[in-house]
Amino acid sequence: MTRRVETKHMERGRIAIAGAGIVGLACAFELYRRGHEITLFDAASPTESTSWAAAGMIAPAYEVMLHRGGAKTPLARFCFESAALWPEFAEALRVETGIPFGYARAPTLAIARNDKEADRLVTLKKSLIAAGHICHWRHGQALPGSLGASSEVQAALELPDDHQVDNRHLIHALRSLCDSESFRFVRAVVNTQEEMERYAGNSFDAIIWARGAHEVGIDSIVKGQALALYPVAGVPEQVLRFGAGYIVPKPDRVIIGATSEETYSHTGVSQKATKALFEEAVAILPILSKAKIMEVWTGLRPRRGNGVPLIGSIGENEYVAAGLHRNGVLLAPATARRVADLVEGKPSAIDAEAFAPSGNMDATA
Ligand SMILES: Cc1cc2nc3c(=O)[nH]c(=O)nc-3n(C[C@H](O)[C@H](O)[C@H](O)COP(=O)(O)OP(=O)(O)OC[C@H]3O[C@@H](n4cnc5c(N)ncnc54)[C@H](O)[C@@H]3O)c2cc1C
Repeated sequence: MTRRVETKHMERGRIAIAGAGIVGLACAFELYRRGHEITLFDAASPTESTSWAAAGMIAPAYEVMLHRGGAKTPLARFCFESAALWPEFAEALRVETGIPFGYARAPTLAIARNDKEADRLVTLKKSLIAAGHICHWRHGQALPGSLGASSEVQAALELPDDHQVDNRHLIHALRSLCDSESFRFVRAVVNTQEEMERYAGNSFDAIIWARGAHEVGIDSIVKGQALALYPVAGVPEQVLRFGAGYIVPKPDRVIIGATSEETYSHTGVSQKATKALFEEAVAILPILSKAKIMEVWTGLRPRRGNGVPLIGSIGENEYVAAGLHRNGVLLAPATARRVADLVEGKPSAIDAEAFAPSGNMDATA
């Protein structure tokens, strides 16, 4: 049963947020926009966060295939709800900071390389359509040529709801609000309200914990390795997805990802994984064989139970926003709105009851 904690209605609160990854920063931006006074705590460089390691996909439709239960589960609905909030979130941040962060709305193409993958895309298509979403089947001999892809590509499902953003530029834009003093930033590791108040020199009306893989209640961490190539001419502008892999073209790099390792011996990069990711991408887009590797990295995805987020009240005026696993970039606007509604004690239009700390742990519920 979900634990409900009553919160007083807050006019202009002093809010403390632990963790300046995409989740903490999005909560800070939402609450700042509503007129609250924000203090963010983080000791690490943004480059060390999982948010920096992401590929920036905003992919509610394709992710349906990677979490269980189809397009009507609470998690799938939350993903679509957040994707729908992205245009307003992006526009508000662009207006506030003037910093571009590559929010691009070209539809994603989910690719099938064999009959088994084609069957999975057919199932995805049925599930999306049954839930009222749009997608278009593309097949035929002209498809590989039109994409610059190899003959490995047999068919594709076009997903108009799946977009992308440059997550690193996004973090830069959100963090610029700390530099411009819209938010106060305290460079410190914090694990209690007392520590926050001691570092800040004032008390807080509400506390939000958004410490990513270090958050209390996160019971597993899934390592992901990805790489970036220098851009080469001939790469399609659209994101391409295949199985668990993807090619995400950005103006200044092409991201190829990603591994999903629930057990691993170290958090560093593996040459074997780099080679496998590169070769899989080249088998789809042969033009990539000409591209040089720019960077290889890993990140630690925070995961809870069966993969549902952890968002809600954990005490009086105390909230958690974590466990966004594979979808922290996608889910940032809806998570921030939900947390801000809880902080203000308002009924929320965002349906996230299933992700409450003591709520249902099953993603398929
Ligand atoms: C390879 C890879 C690709 C991915 N691609 C995508 C994608 O395309 N789309 C998508 O939606 N998601 C993607 N993800 C998932 C996404 O990156 C995560 O869901 C998201 O970054 C989680 O954000 P977060 O803010 O919870 O955690 P983080 O980004 O890790 O931020 C947590 C912050 O908390 C700080 N912190 C920790 N402990 C403390 C403390 N005690 N006090 C103060 N601060 C503290 C840390 O320093 C850190 O800055 C990907 C992940 C990986 C690894």
